[in-house]
Amino acid sequence: MTVEPHPAENRLYTTWVTSRVEAVDHAVTDEDMAAGIADGKGIYRAVCGARVVAALLEEPPHTRCLRCQTYVWARATLRDMDLDNPGPRRSRPGLLALLGWLRG
Ligand SMILES: [Zn+2]
Repeated sequence: MTVEPHPAENRLYTTWVTSRVEAVDHAVTDEDMAAGIADGKGIYRAVCGARVVAALLEEPPHTRCLRCQTYVWARATLRDMDLDNPGPRRSRPGLLALLGWLRG
């Protein structure tokens, strides 16, 4: 018997972290936030793959990273898709295949 996780267990919990280096805020998962805190360097891995050097807390928020926003949106709306392991990419049919199909 397979026990499916409750949908709430698949939710992605993130915090927007303002970068000291860029004028951008990145989304950091709770797990990566805890890892960054444990490391003690103030550097966190964002969901877009960027390494974020956290700005001081007085720093006002900046615009959000488009790649992080897209990832968070996709995780919230495409819950059945495994974004961490999307699988092999399917290539589009080439021009020759399309011409062959048109000829019948
Ligand atoms: Zn980002």
